[in-house]
Amino acid sequence: MSERRKIAVVGAGIAGLALARSLHDIADVTVFEKSRGVGGRMATRRAGAGGFDHGAQYFTVRDDAFRRMLEPAIEEGIVQAWTGTIGSCSRTSPGIRHEAVLSPRFVGTPGMTGLPKWLSRGLDVRLATKVDAIEGVPCRWEIAVGSERIGPFDWVVTACPAPQALALLPASFSRREPIANANMNACFTLMITLEYPALSDHCALRYDDEIISFVADNSSKPQRSAQPSLVVHCQNTWADRNIGSDLDAVRSAMLGNLAKLMPGIASNIAAVEIHRWRFANVDVASADDVLIDVDSRLAACGDWTIGNRVEAAFLSARKLSQALGASL
Ligand SMILES: Cc1cc2nc3c(=O)[nH]c(=O)nc-3n(C[C@H](O)[C@H](O)[C@H](O)COP(=O)(O)OP(=O)(O)OC[C@H]3O[C@@H](n4cnc5c(N)ncnc54)[C@H](O)[C@@H]3O)c2cc1C
Repeated sequence: MSERRKIAVVGAGIAGLALARSLHDIADVTVFEKSRGVGGRMATRRAGAGGFDHGAQYFTVRDDAFRRMLEPAIEEGIVQAWTGTIGSCSRTSPGIRHEAVLSPRFVGTPGMTGLPKWLSRGLDVRLATKVDAIEGVPCRWEIAVGSERIGPFDWVVTACPAPQALALLPASFSRREPIANANMNACFTLMITLEYPALSDHCALRYDDEIISFVADNSSKPQRSAQPSLVVHCQNTWADRNIGSDLDAVRSAMLGNLAKLMPGIASNIAAVEIHRWRFANVDVASADDVLIDVDSRLAACGDWTIGNRVEAAFLSARKLSQALGASL
């Protein structure tokens, strides 16, 4: 019987976890994650009376393989539908247009991180472990964490945003160019605790405002705290222009425009927190969606190989796991 390969995965977002899960029957997989919890941009922050989904708001399940993987999580109630109507508000036409539901919307429970936590069950995930470099040679790669060297690993796969992958992958990785071609936008997110509910007919509103892009009724999602709360995302182009700005100034600008869009909101706010996402959304995906170099035994995956969605991150990992499985 051939020896099981050792694989290091950098990043415990949906892509890294889906990849590790699909490989852990045929290889020894270790996932390294710099944060204290799993999920990456499928994020939930505890604040006030409950938790805020301050990254991805919901996800679609269009792909059959994604659906098959999620079925047990749906049965367990870890993944549930987020029902309700999303409204769309335009500067050029008055009123709120109801968006058609083209594909059901799903969320993790009791917060968005419910799904990545479920995915990580039984996996070897090293939390609070920031990978500083990938050192060594193929089949003897080492993961550098401060002065510590962890390994050796036969393969290393990055499952983090494109700019972070590019910074980590050694020069010998032959697929650097498609990574460099991918472009990611920033975003700022407000987490607002309210005194009383603000959205009555909608679970979320989309805006074409200069600053505000999306307002979600966080408390309308299943199994959330009853405390009324909103999650507010800004426009990516505005975030890119303001990425280096002081957070208090960003918060004031966002709250200023929110007050214009939702008259009366200012007197309803009990508390506000803000989060800066440096690499939030995929603006331009890489030209190639399977980034593997069999000679150097390095590979990369993440939403940015396909598009700007949770489902894209899963599909990226799935495509890579098929290519890797054939090479192990
Ligand atoms: C504000 C916002 C709103 C969004 N809204 C939606 C939405 O409504 N619907 C939707 O489908 N998608 C949405 N998305 C996109 C969705 O969240 C992503 O497509 C998906 O979560 C990406 O998963 P990933 O695994 O590719 O990357 P990530 O989730 O970014 O995971 C990468 C992980 O790598 C870790 N990492 C990075 N560098 C290192 C290192 N050196 N060492 C160790 N660990 C490292 C990070 O900490 C992170 O946990 C949104 C994203 C944001 C930010």
